[in-house]
Amino acid sequence: MVGARNPVPRERLPRERPGPRFVLVSLHAHPDDEALLTGGTLARAAAEGHRVVLVVATDGAAGLADAGPGADLAQRRTRELAASAAALGVARVVRLGHRDSGYLEPAGADGDAVPVFSALSVGQLAAEVAAVLREEGADVLTTYDARGGYGHPDHVHVHAVGVAAAALAGTPVVLEATIDRTWVRRALRVAARVPGLVGDVTADRVGEGFTARGDLTHRVDVRAHAGAKRAALAAHASQSETGGRRGVRGIGALLLLPRPVFRRALGREWFTERGRAPGPTLLDDVFASLRGR
Ligand SMILES: [Zn+2]
Repeated sequence: MVGARNPVPRERLPRERPGPRFVLVSLHAHPDDEALLTGGTLARAAAEGHRVVLVVATDGAAGLADAGPGADLAQRRTRELAASAAALGVARVVRLGHRDSGYLEPAGADGDAVPVFSALSVGQLAAEVAAVLREEGADVLTTYDARGGYGHPDHVHVHAVGVAAAALAGTPVVLEATIDRTWVRRALRVAARVPGLVGDVTADRVGEGFTARGDLTHRVDVRAHAGAKRAALAAHASQSETGGRRGVRGIGALLLLPRPVFRRALGREWFTERGRAPGPTLLDDVFASLRGR
């Protein structure tokens, strides 16, 4: 396990605000997931004076591989993750360093003896994450929804590992980071107008993933932190192509959006809090269950 403490940049030091300070630990599968799914929420929590810790399960070496395969890509993605975390105001990054399982081109068929993340036992991985939760005195853990969003095996595994780790460490609030499925389908319809941006297979899989609106508990307004979210996404340059041989891919497509469109399109993030029944209105505060305790 490798830990690195990023100093909080001076301009991000929180203004004095009343109220308790909480510790939020955010568990993710790959470098860049933190920015895409929870970047605004992490930036908002840090800006409001809470301690934000990022735990990333894999090295991301099966990501878009134009940077070069294997170890080179993993090293580059580690640097990108540090830059993303700094943009979000994350106080500490813990990289568990497991092997990326891959998605469209699954890893593991090359006879390599190192097992991929999704093949490791939930119990072993939960113990690793629980150690961080205990060390930090975590109040909130974010993990993924049970579908793992769009179904990447590493994302499905992060759900199980996060739930088990919180139980081991006694972390009181567990939030499943997800996306409102209605939003996903609308975004796919828009993206489909750009030839080659989203494949039919991907669109079908993604459109059935994530979480139905009626099952969500939180919709967090992060429009005021869209700049930090955008900077975090931009830090993952190896996962971004905005032109060239293969056209626009991945994060690059989002970074092409004009800033006001980016803020509107990516200015909300969704969660389902475990053990809390969805109410008539979605909560905006990830610490809601901890207030007044
Ligand atoms: Zn991922």
